[in-house]
Amino acid sequence: MAKLYFRYGTMGSSKSAQALMVEFNYMERGYNVLLVKPAVDTRDEKPVIRSRVGLERPCKLIAPGETFADLLEEKHQVIIVDEAQFLTGQQVEELKNLTVDKDIPVLCYGLRTDFSTRMFPGSARLLELSESIVEIKSICHCGSKATVNARFNENGIIREGPQVVIGGNEQYTPLCYRCWREGRLK
Ligand SMILES: [Zn+2]
Repeated sequence: MAKLYFRYGTMGSSKSAQALMVEFNYMERGYNVLLVKPAVDTRDEKPVIRSRVGLERPCKLIAPGETFADLLEEKHQVIIVDEAQFLTGQQVEELKNLTVDKDIPVLCYGLRTDFSTRMFPGSARLLELSESIVEIKSICHCGSKATVNARFNENGIIREGPQVVIGGNEQYTPLCYRCWREGRLK
C-alpha cells in the first residue's frame, strides 16, 4: 500500500529543494507527478514551487475549499505537496484516503509550527496520519538545531499576531528555542 509521507523542517531547511529533487527522481523514472502547493499567498502570478538554491517548477494550486480530486488526473502516479502546513485537515484526510484507495504515494513538505511555536492545523493532521515522518534539520546561528520559525521586523522578534500574514513586511528566520526565547536574532 502506498504511504503518506511528511517531511517537516523550519524555514530555510531546503524543504522545497528536496521536494523538487524527489519530483525529478520520479520523472526520471517515467512517473507522472502531481506537484501542488496550497493557494495561500497569491502574490505569485504564476504558480511555481521555488527553492532558494535556484530550482523552480510549475505546480498546481489548491485553495482551502478545493479537493485533490479536482486536480488529480488519470495519469498521475505520485503527489508531492510543498508548503503542506497550509493544507486543511480535510485535505490531509483526502490525501491519506488517496494512498489507501488509489495506491498513490503522497509526499508532503512543510513547517511543523508557526512563528509562536504553535502547530499549523495541516501539519497537526499530517503528524497524526503519516506513516513516515522525518525532520529536515537546520541550524540556528548559535550552532544548535533550529526548531522555531521566528517572525521579526526592524524592532525584533514578533510573538503575537495572526498565524499567517500575507504581504506583510515581517520576515522569518530559523532559531533554536533558547535564542528565540531570549530574542537573539544574531
Ligand atoms: Zn540558537
